[in-house]
Amino acid sequence: MKVQCPKCQNNFDLDVELNEEGDSVECPSCGIEVFVAKKGKKFTVVETFEEADEDSQGWEED
Ligand SMILES: [Zn+2]
Repeated sequence: MKVQCPKCQNNFDLDVELNEEGDSVECPSCGIEVFVAKKGKKFTVVETFEEADEDSQGWEED
């Protein structure tokens, strides 16, 4: 499936058999790392994948 790099706008082929949402791939044109995201049934790639952060941070002990 063709996806478009969010940085350089280059269209490249994403193998949806090998990649799933959240996987990182490298744009063959500009070389940045992008993340696989899904929009409905379509795959897309984004510069930053927003994942639910379930780690509770802010534990500080004096
Ligand atoms: Zn690119």
